[in-house]
Amino acid sequence: MSLLYLHIPYCKRICAYCDFFRSASLATLPAALDAMRSEMERRRDYLGGDPRIRTIYFGGGTPSLCAPQRLQRLIDTASGLWDCSSPEEITVEVNPDDVTDDYVAALRDTAVDRISLGIQSFDDGLLRAMNRRHTAAQAVAAVERLRRAGYDNLSGDLIFGIEGFGGSVLEESLRRMIALGVCHISAYHLTIELGTAFGRRVARGLMHEVDEAVSEREFALVHDMLTAAGYEHYEVSNFALPGCRARHNSAYWTGERYLGIGAGAHSFDGAERRWCTSTVEQYAECDFRYQSELLSDREMYDEYVMTSLRRIEGIDTEYVAERFGRGRAEAMIAAAARWQASGDMIIGRGRMRIPPERFLISDAVIESLFE
Ligand code: SF4
Repeated sequence: MSLLYLHIPYCKRICAYCDFFRSASLATLPAALDAMRSEMERRRDYLGGDPRIRTIYFGGGTPSLCAPQRLQRLIDTASGLWDCSSPEEITVEVNPDDVTDDYVAALRDTAVDRISLGIQSFDDGLLRAMNRRHTAAQAVAAVERLRRAGYDNLSGDLIFGIEGFGGSVLEESLRRMIALGVCHISAYHLTIELGTAFGRRVARGLMHEVDEAVSEREFALVHDMLTAAGYEHYEVSNFALPGCRARHNSAYWTGERYLGIGAGAHSFDGAERRWCTSTVEQYAECDFRYQSELLSDREMYDEYVMTSLRRIEGIDTEYVAERFGRGRAEAMIAAAARWQASGDMIIGRGRMRIPPERFLISDAVIESLFE
């Protein structure tokens, strides 16, 4: 089975931390949605012999800028090309201030059954600093509105690791997120990227990256509060109540094939990674351009190590031996010994994994195991 990702790279306003591929001009959005249907038709064979779609995900950008009817038309097009008869999950990312009564009523007429809300914080000062469009009150109202309409499969995003907004501000955001009862939470540590508003502030000395001790403290606060509230810390940045893991993203992390549609979207057919390089203007004119790379055996191994160690299940050492060779598996276990000694790795029962409370250092562990 495969995953279908539909990328809507448009935003009304650019967030201060964001370096994603997206456009703040909405002029080409209607044409881009038509072009996405054309791209699906042109790439109908990309998923090979098994046309069953396991999950559909509308990401961005801001998919909630599109009328739900337009999203359903994309789902209908997909259903005409592949077997979308029993998807496990159809998610749409929304900005809280787009979630009006009319929007929710229209969404009820679509097949979307999971909503991911870009909440980020419940502190209005921080939301303003991040140049978000919504307020904390709008985020609460959006969740309540969706719940009243019958949506229980809700996810909320939070950002931490922002100078001046840790401690009690972060604690209050976590407390309010837990109180809202969303069944899935993605909590990301801020990365300051060049070319963003935050990146420019840092370059001018007006803002600083938090130091390692602060990162560790805030990560521990996020982990401790959410796990104490019953959320499983199942991936570096993801927490779920029982039965509520994100199926679409989880499938990415286990190496399933996916087809990405839209300007800037990435695809993977099991061997080759391909991404659309068209500008939004080119894309809207159905001028689809791509780049691709064939993954070598070494890159496949590195990818497996990276995605596995970011998850609570970790690495299946017998799978590594069978898929990548026994010598590689033995070298990997030997290289992991120092992390085991420091308590950053648990090895046993055919698995190597990082304890969730140590996920913050997963990048260092992963890099040390790359070939
Ligand atoms: S809404 Fe999302 S994609 Fe758009 S600017 Fe903000 S973070 Fe970036």
